[in-house]
Amino acid sequence: MHYVCSSYNTFMNEQIVIIGGGVSALMLASLLPGKSVTVVEKNAAPGAKILVSGGGKCNITNALMDADFFVADKSFVEPSLKAFDEKDLLQWLKRRGLEPVIRKGSQYFCKESSRELLSLLQKESRKQHFLYNETVLSVSKRETHFYVKTDKRMLTADAVVVASGGLSFPRLGASGIGYEIAEKFGHSIVRTAPALVGFTVQKEQFFFKELSGASADVLIKVNGQRCRGSLLFAHKGISGPAVLDASLYWERGKIEIDFLPGFSWKNVCKSPKQLSSLLPLPKRVTKAFLLQLKLQDKTGSKITDNELLVLKGLNHYRFAPAGTFGYSRAEVTRGGVDTSEVDSRTMMSKKVEGLFFTGEVLDVTGRLGGYNFQWAFSSAVSCARFLGHL
Ligand SMILES: Cc1cc2nc3c(=O)[nH]c(=O)nc-3n(C[C@H](O)[C@H](O)[C@H](O)COP(=O)(O)OP(=O)(O)OC[C@H]3O[C@@H](n4cnc5c(N)ncnc54)[C@H](O)[C@@H]3O)c2cc1C
Repeated sequence: MHYVCSSYNTFMNEQIVIIGGGVSALMLASLLPGKSVTVVEKNAAPGAKILVSGGGKCNITNALMDADFFVADKSFVEPSLKAFDEKDLLQWLKRRGLEPVIRKGSQYFCKESSRELLSLLQKESRKQHFLYNETVLSVSKRETHFYVKTDKRMLTADAVVVASGGLSFPRLGASGIGYEIAEKFGHSIVRTAPALVGFTVQKEQFFFKELSGASADVLIKVNGQRCRGSLLFAHKGISGPAVLDASLYWERGKIEIDFLPGFSWKNVCKSPKQLSSLLPLPKRVTKAFLLQLKLQDKTGSKITDNELLVLKGLNHYRFAPAGTFGYSRAEVTRGGVDTSEVDSRTMMSKKVEGLFFTGEVLDVTGRLGGYNFQWAFSSAVSCARFLGHL
């Protein structure tokens, strides 16, 4: 006998219900061919984030894969990363006809477009049942059965997998339903915040906004972490890969930016060149900093020892960001379902039998470079290996 709520026009009985149709859900659905699986996705189609990721080419994973690249309890992340690492993922994709290409040193991207990955996952999971344009509202459990209430019906399930992602990019479907479900079942949520996102600035750094469009290779130090890469001046503040990575570690307070990492000051005082040509920064950036430092754009040979000292401040420019660009621009959500309450080998809740969490909804957040997709895949594989044997 199944419980049916009379106010719902349809009743369906499925063994496994997956909440969300993102990358983690698609992988999980692909790996459970013999099971009766229903995926509920509020958008009209799955994998919205896959399509926009990596500039439309989807940075799938990274050759340098390690738990150190995640803000998370490493002992929780490691079993899944070891059970299905970047090589396993690349091989799994290759066997299905997708061979990502390596770019920017160690990052794997789709050759032409993110669509290649989405199509593959859709093909692999095609035997499962997908409900689109349907929003999960709540989940409850009575005895051994789960009841998943959507805006269209009530679904019953033996197991429920919450793969609903984080709060980032609400326009692509993000919602807090995963956290609500977790809390309802007694789970703790580690405070969430936008991450892999740009910083807004306070008035002392408003001059950054006038540099909009310029970029520089920098080293950012934040909370004991070092983030090297490009910084992009934007009209709202600063962005770019180094800043996005830094945002993962920033909560509040000051960060330090080295605007001239590795630059040798040795011959500066002998140079006949103007400072704005001498320093390896875009001219307008150097000029703006000189103005802020109350220095003139003179030839290197004419600067005094004291002026040189002030100039060297560009190696450790400290300031407190005002905040971030927020969830609407953040690639991921830091924080989430507390992983100490989830089994690291199966992704099952330690509090509620049959309830699972995979992907970004968990308190696992990777740096820029394909780490978040790898986590979505690896956690789905751990979950699938367990569910597949039920
Ligand atoms: C612009 C952008 C670029 C990115 N680029 C990269 C990249 O190149 N490499 C990388 O590793 N990571 C990247 N990321 C991060 C990556 O997309 C996520 O970490 C990853 O998609 C998380 O997978 P997931 O399956 O856990 O959640 P998601 O992919 O977010 O999927 C969750 C799904 O749940 C659905 N959902 C939410 N609430 C409900 C509800 N109530 N009912 C039904 N469905 C619901 C959502 O519509 C969504 O489809 C990027 C993110 C963004 C926003």
